[in-house]
Formats: sequence, C-alpha cells, structure tokens
Amino acid sequence: MENSENSKLYTRQEVLRLVGLGIPGLLMSISALTSCSKFPMPDKNFSGTVGIVGGGIAGLYAGYMLQQQGISVMIYEASDRKGGRIRSQSDLIDHPVEWGAHRIWGENHALFQLLTANGVEWVDQAIQDYAYVEGFWLSEAIMGDQQSVKKLNSIIDGLKTYEGADMSANLYATIKGLPASTQPIWNARLGIKNGATTDIMGIEGIASSIQNASSGTHERLVRSGDLESLILSTFRDVPITYSTPIADVDYSGSKVVLTDTNGVEWKHDKVLVTAPIPILKNNIQFYPTLPSKAQAAIDGTSMRGGLQVLLTFNQRFWPGDAKRLQMDGLCPNFEVIGSGGRSNQNLNLMANLFGTAYETALEGPMPIVPALLQQLDTYYGDNIATNSWVNSESYDWGQDPWIQGTQSYSPVGGSEVRYGFAESVNQKLYWAGEATHTEGHHGTIHGAMETAVRAVQQILEEA
Ligand SMILES: Cc1cc2nc3c(=O)[nH]c(=O)nc-3n(C[C@H](O)[C@H](O)[C@H](O)COP(=O)(O)OP(=O)(O)OC[C@H]3O[C@@H](n4cnc5c(N)ncnc54)[C@H](O)[C@@H]3O)c2cc1C
Repeated sequence: MENSENSKLYTRQEVLRLVGLGIPGLLMSISALTSCSKFPMPDKNFSGTVGIVGGGIAGLYAGYMLQQQGISVMIYEASDRKGGRIRSQSDLIDHPVEWGAHRIWGENHALFQLLTANGVEWVDQAIQDYAYVEGFWLSEAIMGDQQSVKKLNSIIDGLKTYEGADMSANLYATIKGLPASTQPIWNARLGIKNGATTDIMGIEGIASSIQNASSGTHERLVRSGDLESLILSTFRDVPITYSTPIADVDYSGSKVVLTDTNGVEWKHDKVLVTAPIPILKNNIQFYPTLPSKAQAAIDGTSMRGGLQVLLTFNQRFWPGDAKRLQMDGLCPNFEVIGSGGRSNQNLNLMANLFGTAYETALEGPMPIVPALLQQLDTYYGDNIATNSWVNSESYDWGQDPWIQGTQSYSPVGGSEVRYGFAESVNQKLYWAGEATHTEGHHGTIHGAMETAVRAVQQILEEA
C-alpha cells in the first residue's frame, strides 16, 4: 500500500467539502477534470445536439463533459448496461473481481487524480512478477541477476529508442537473441498487458507506445471497492438509451442519422462514435463511405478475443508477495488478484487467455479449467493446483457481442494508422474510445478518457 499524502483516506463528505461541490460521485467539475488533461477546453462554437455511440468510459466521459457545456447529448448503448470493458463483480469471492480493466497505469492523467482525490487507497503493483526460467521460479528481485533475464531486459529497454522496420514482435525478439526461456516473460510484459500476444503484434506499435506514453508506468489497483462503482456511478446523470445497437451512421445530410438494428432512427447535429474496433469492422456501416484515413485506421487496428478465468483454491501454492505468475504453456500470465492486501486469504488466480492463447485454449483438446490446472501442476508439482482447486468462473470477452475482444493493438504495419481517428469527418463525425488514442495510451481506461477530451474539444471548436 502506498503511503503518500495523496493516498490519505477521505470520507465522501470530506471529498465533497474539499472540492466544494454537491455533486455525487468522484467528479469535481469540468474545469477540474479537463485541467488534469493536456487538452484544455476551447471556447464553445457549437450549440446543437450530439449523439454518442457506446456507453463505455469514453462515451460516458464525453457525454458528461458535453452536458456540462450545456449541450444536449444522448448515448446509444447496444447492451443493457453502461461501462463496456469496465466490468466488476462483487459477489464471487472476498473482494471485487474485475473482469475487464483492473490496473490503473501511471499517474499523469485525470483518472488517477480523480480517484486519488476521492480517497481511493491504492495497492502498489510495482512489478513483483514470478517467472519460471530455466527450471526455477524466479522472483523479480533475483530475476535481474540472471543472464537470460538481463538479455530480455536489455531488449525491452532498447525499444525506448527503436526506429527500425516493423515486424512481428516475436521475430524481432529472435533477431535480437532473446533466450527462449524468457519468451513467456516477453509475451506477458508486452503482449498480455495489451490484451494480445507478441506473435501477432508489430514491434513498431509496441515501441511507439512505449516511446509516446506519458502517463507513467507505475501500476496500481484500488485496495477496496470496484471500478464499476468507483468510476461509473459518477456518470449516472448522462442520458443513455440502452439496448440500442447502432447499425448505420448516415452523415450525408445536414443531420447525422443513426439507425439501430430495429430500424429506429435518431438525428443529431454531430455524432461521436466510441464502439470497439471489431464493432467498427463488423457491425456499423457508414454512409457515405469513410475517408481513406479513417477507414485505414479501422482496418489496420486489431483486437482479438480474450477469456478471463477466475480460479479459486483452498490453499495458496504461490508466493505471498507475487503479483503475477508467468510461465510457458497454455496461459502465459496468471494475475494474483488478491495481492497487496486486497484479499485476506489471497486464494484466487485470474488466468489471462488473450491473443492467440485465447484461440489455442478454445480449440484445445481439453476443457479449459482442467488444462489450466494441469499447467499449474506442471510448474508447482504434486498435482497441487488440481487437488486444491475449488471453483471457477469466467468471462469471455470474445463472445461479448458488443465488444468482441479485449484491447486494441497494432499488428505489423499498423503502428501509424490510428492517426486516422484524430480528425473529425466533415465536422460531423467524431471518434473516441481506447483504440483511437494516437499517443500510446490505447488499451487503457485513462487513454479512452483522453480520447473523449480530444473529441469534445473538436466538437466544441467546430461549429
Ligand atoms: C480483460 C481486459 C483487461 C483490461 N485491463 C486493463 C487495465 O488493467 N487497465 C486499463 O487501464 N485498461 C484495461 N483494459 C482496457 C480498458 O478496459 C479499455 O481500454 C476501456 O475500458 C475502453 O473504454 P471505451 O469506452 O473505449 O470502450 P468500451 O468500454 O468497449 O465501450 C464501448 C461501448 O460501446 C458499446 N457498443 C458496441 N457496439 C455498439 C453499437 N453498435 N451501438 C451502440 N453501442 C455499442 C459497447 O457495448 C460498450 O459499452 C482491459 C480490458 C480488458 C477487456
């Protein structure tokens, strides 16, 4: 747990008094929110209505900001809930389970500042990985002294200045001489972190997100409470029409016409699209066809399925201070989700099956839970995982009809295309959502929020 001035535990009343507001939740005011970001709000030139496609954090935050500027908004959400990839469940184990986003990356962004100001107590997730390398479990503390891990670290470090050709991240690692024994760590740190695996990611995209990211690299979890309540309840006054999947966006006339899958139409002066990449590829048609830069951004950005499997045991067979367990096999990364005092018992692991690991797991000969237990047995011995397993729950993001995956990533050749989301289309159609972030914060909550600020700024500026 961090012990900084910022992490002082405030009561809700103290926070509201502190920020001088009577509004519920953690939001302070539009000026406080936007002053945390690098996109200051411009003078308002626009006064029409805005329709927002998608009620994840990007759509909610944009809707909130526009509402604060006196602009009439309506969010159209395909599912029956808000939050998208922020999805918490509190009735499974002795602390909330986050099926989607769970870590807060860095501190140089509005999300961190607002959660902190609201009295959130942080669990410091500064890396404490345990990885199986050359026959031994190595803790983070001793990993750095091991020759093969030193090599891995130097290759990752080199990405801070990499400007070479694009190629698959695994091919790059091979050319650079990454020892095979550290491949699982490479995959977990660069692939799983981004909701994918390094065999399908381009090295240029990984390098440029490392080079551009300004949010900071420190990792934190909230110690108690769940992200859905802590973040989403804040946006309860932003109007949403649920169970309304938008199928067509027609921006050919003076109004933008949204048509849902039942053929019902809504008209707005401007529309902000925040749906995830697979939905933009598979489920939404645009009329007229999009300009080539925007279409290239959709076509050239990828997102694959992902499965989170919560495994509950009756004894802990991993080290008490472990945050993540990385090893070769079906699942490259198991998160120790109760670490840092989030759980008194710390008896749960979350298996992250992302990228090609997701597809391998679904297509494998064994059912997934026994296969995961067998993998853990192989590394911990004595059938300990199988014998101490109690229960499992899972969430399949690939099967979520309105998400269809985990986080966006750049495949080989795709590192520059996101810039196609940075501008409006005909000053009518705007883009937000994690995949539209052009400066390295894609795949994160705070990145999605930053794209909402960008879009709101554009909407207000462009009359
Ligand atoms: C397993 C997993 C782990 C993650 N871990 C982290 C983490 O540790 N830290 C972190 O910062 N981030 C993490 N992320 C990423 C983070 O959750 C996302 O970047 C962020 O929540 C995306 O917000 P968004 O608003 O861009 O998109 P979404 O949350 O996907 O919202 C889009 C919304 O659009 C709706 N929609 C889709 N199609 C339509 C349609 N046709 N019409 C109307 N509505 C539609 C969807 O239902 C959804 O509600 C993780 C994500 C996953 C899945």
